[in-house]
Amino acid sequence: MTVIQTRGLSKRYGRVVAVEDLNLEVWEGEVFGVLGPNGSGKTTTILMLLGLTEPTQGEARVLGLDPMREPLKVKARVGYLPDQVGFYGELTAWENLRYTTRLLGLPEGEAKARIEEVLRRMGLWEVRERRVSAFSRGMRQRLGLAEVLLKRPKVVILDEPTSGLDPEAAREFLELIKELKAEGITVLLSSHLLHQVQEICDRVGLFHKGRLALLGTVEELAQRVLGGGYEILVEAGPGLEEAFLGLEGVARVEAEDGRYRVL
Ligand code: ADP
Repeated sequence: MTVIQTRGLSKRYGRVVAVEDLNLEVWEGEVFGVLGPNGSGKTTTILMLLGLTEPTQGEARVLGLDPMREPLKVKARVGYLPDQVGFYGELTAWENLRYTTRLLGLPEGEAKARIEEVLRRMGLWEVRERRVSAFSRGMRQRLGLAEVLLKRPKVVILDEPTSGLDPEAAREFLELIKELKAEGITVLLSSHLLHQVQEICDRVGLFHKGRLALLGTVEELAQRVLGGGYEILVEAGPGLEEAFLGLEGVARVEAEDGRYRVL
């Protein structure tokens, strides 16, 4: 089943083309990676999927809903972890989540059960009485995911979820994403890290200057793994070389028989 679909989705900010003619499908239960260098249109795409910004042209469907027409329904069903998570620093982790359950209108018993469940899952149960201002970036990010899971979403959208995390915290967070997938939650995440999407995504769309330059499974992308680093062979295409070079984790791109070797 198709969970997210876009047709000719485009967004311009004045003369800046942020997203151009995007045709994308995300399938139920997969982890889909929106991969691209900074400025390639990842966040703008996500904002349009959530109904937070209006497309200049084209349309999006999320769980069959048009986010521009039914933003509340989309918000109720889709978990969104933005680039910068906002919490009330003076409140504890528990209090922050309790506030969210009030906004969601959950009855007290149900709210408490769900808060305990998500805090335990995110490894934050022991620190639930601590103020969020004392949390590390990694803890805040896990609390962000805990908050997202309170409403038991079928789809979760994560914008650069490991940016600013140290390698250990990033690895832990990727494990949590794998657990979401194991539970049947559809995940769309954006990243500028090639090795990250290779590790956790089923399919990847490579963005370049607002356009989808490449779309395929991770196996199609990563045909071989060589001692420590990845070697990827992809069909040569317009803009592809530049798009790969803009990613973190790519040292060079070599052309060879109509293919690129990305090292
Ligand atoms: P990414 O998430 O891949 O870094 P963005 O979607 O944030 O890319 O940005 C895509 C392009 O649109 C960039 O050129 C960026 O400068 C531009 N852009 C994004 N948001 C705005 C805005 N609110 N006003 C003007 N330009 C914007």
